Amino acid sequence: MALPDKEKMTNEPPARKRALKESAREGVTVVQEGVEYTSFACNDYLGLSHHPAVVKAAQEALAKWGTGAGASRLITGNHPLYAPLEKQIAKMKGKEAALVFGSGYLANIGIIPTLVGEGDLIVADKLVHACMIDGALLSGATLKRFKHNDLTSAEVFLDEHRGKYERTLILTEHVFSMDGDVAPLAGLAKLAKRYNALLMVDNAHGLGILKSDADVDIWMGTLSKAAGAYGGYIATSKKVIDDMVNGARSFIFSTGLPPAVCASALKALEIMEREPERGARALKLARKVNAKAESSIVPVVIGSEEGALRAAEKLKARGILSVAIRPPTVPSGTSRLRLTFSAEHTDEQVDQLIAALKTL
Ligand SMILES: *Cc1c(COP(=O)(O)O)cnc(C)c1O
Repeated sequence: MALPDKEKMTNEPPARKRALKESAREGVTVVQEGVEYTSFACNDYLGLSHHPAVVKAAQEALAKWGTGAGASRLITGNHPLYAPLEKQIAKMKGKEAALVFGSGYLANIGIIPTLVGEGDLIVADKLVHACMIDGALLSGATLKRFKHNDLTSAEVFLDEHRGKYERTLILTEHVFSMDGDVAPLAGLAKLAKRYNALLMVDNAHGLGILKSDADVDIWMGTLSKAAGAYGGYIATSKKVIDDMVNGARSFIFSTGLPPAVCASALKALEIMEREPERGARALKLARKVNAKAESSIVPVVIGSEEGALRAAEKLKARGILSVAIRPPTVPSGTSRLRLTFSAEHTDEQVDQLIAALKTL
């Protein structure tokens, strides 16, 4: 198979060199090079990765089942913690069934080529995550990208192209990872019905924060953000789950998750469901910084790359960790600080952030 044409991807490898920096994290406190910061740069929105009951569930599973799954789930890696985890995900997403993958990335690159292929059409929001684009390119289907969150633009593509293709898949995110805004899911679901297409939504940043009762055919998401663990999932009909078990290559040819990871994810989801006030608090704190925030992600658009880097350095000097997001992750001229809020941030920490932002 030919490698995807990199020019067609929005998230091309960067021109600059990337480097890893060690970060030791405990809740919203991060230590880098011996200095302690309050982090507004982490996706553990509900603080569940350090929750005592979640940690205990992982420890018990570790003691009982050991460290690794040992094989692909279709061989001997399908340990007994998968069934309750998938049942819980299906229940929370209001779907017949769910299936857990090794990660959100593996889920997207496995799911999309199983749903569509050559002769089919994918209509995707311009800003969907790199792994949805990778999945789309792997599928061999024709990819069209509509203007971000613009139903009219999506409709124009569907109207013009739908008739020429056999199957059609519409791709979007629930909460967009870099802008924190929310997709018009009800409108997209209507378009999907009208044009006999499937609607698939990446829920990576929505889970635990927002609910949607839109008629979404396929939810996918990750257990690595608000659920504080690791792994990806799809929640949909039993028929589509069966297609995944039989066709999704990243599911079939990859080892199952370590049992302790499944146990912690299940415990975290149970807490998430039982304590919706956690998500509500993350949202409330985000709104303290920007009253128009639609999720726990708040972008502060600076413009130039150097400006965004300088802003991040200024916050860092005041003990606050944020990330400067630059092209190609976001369009040129929209470099920004991406701030994320957690149920674990104190009001004082958010007040300190607000004061620091005023100095920019
Ligand atoms: C993080 C993320 C993923 C990938 O999930 P992992 O479990 O980290 O591989 C997929 N989609 C979106 C929108 C994400 O933000």
